[in-house]
Amino acid sequence: MKNSTIFRGMTRDGSARIVVIDSTAIVSRATMLHKTAPTATAALGRLLTAASMIGSLSGEKGDTVTLGINADGELGKLLAVADYYGNVKGYVENPSADPERKPNGKLDVGGAVGEGYLYLVREKGNGEPHVGTVALKSGEIAEDVAAYFAESEQIPTLCALGVLVNPDGTCLAAGGALIQLLPFADPATVDAIEKNSDALKEISGLVASGMDGFDIASVALRGIEFDPFDTIEVEYFCDCSHERFLRGIRTISRDEILRMLSEQEAETGERTLSVDCRFCGKKYAYTEEELFKTEADPE
Ligand SMILES: [Zn+2]
Repeated sequence: MKNSTIFRGMTRDGSARIVVIDSTAIVSRATMLHKTAPTATAALGRLLTAASMIGSLSGEKGDTVTLGINADGELGKLLAVADYYGNVKGYVENPSADPERKPNGKLDVGGAVGEGYLYLVREKGNGEPHVGTVALKSGEIAEDVAAYFAESEQIPTLCALGVLVNPDGTCLAAGGALIQLLPFADPATVDAIEKNSDALKEISGLVASGMDGFDIASVALRGIEFDPFDTIEVEYFCDCSHERFLRGIRTISRDEILRMLSEQEAETGERTLSVDCRFCGKKYAYTEEELFKTEADPE
């Protein structure tokens, strides 16, 4: 399968910037790791697609973007984390969620997400993270991301997200586009972008037909001159490690760790604490000795 790619460009008049992603490989990897049913594939796929594009627009190396949904639907919580390049990882609390199709035969992502809010956390290499939230509009995710940018960051944004799902839950094609207006955008350019936006409603179909990021940007910006900036490869990427989890566990109280150790001992007969990475499924195990070794201890 082709690697996922992000195309970036800008209208020549400086009115808008555009990002287009073919996220088929990313979403396929996610469905394999999380064994998602069709509706969960679509929901998690759309969130990963959005997070990757938003990550690729963040300012500096070391920045990360976390896009999450807390809502009351069958899917439970959804989360996606992207780096500055657009590499992304994510999970859905209930990957087997797959409610009845809508009357038009489409997957009911909005129904499975439910009511709640979408949030975005921007973390810099150092300094306080910036958190913004918005109440979900439809739970279909693209509309919610656009609402987030309009309401929380005051950036008029057009967002299209699409995942074509096979009956077995795997991904046939996935993609997205994000167009953000810059200050003093030319109203004629804005009008043209709006007129073209219908063509992006089935963006996964455009990806499936073989169009690349530049081709899709040409559809989104039909009638507008634009300059390509670059095209970069991105992937589903998890940066978990033994050390990283250990640091996390050490923030838990000693009593709580002892309680968990006893619980796992009763279950498995071994007094080790094992954790599974929620993003990639890798397993890590820690002995009591390792968990309570302090910095002062000689190695
Ligand atoms: Zn991992």
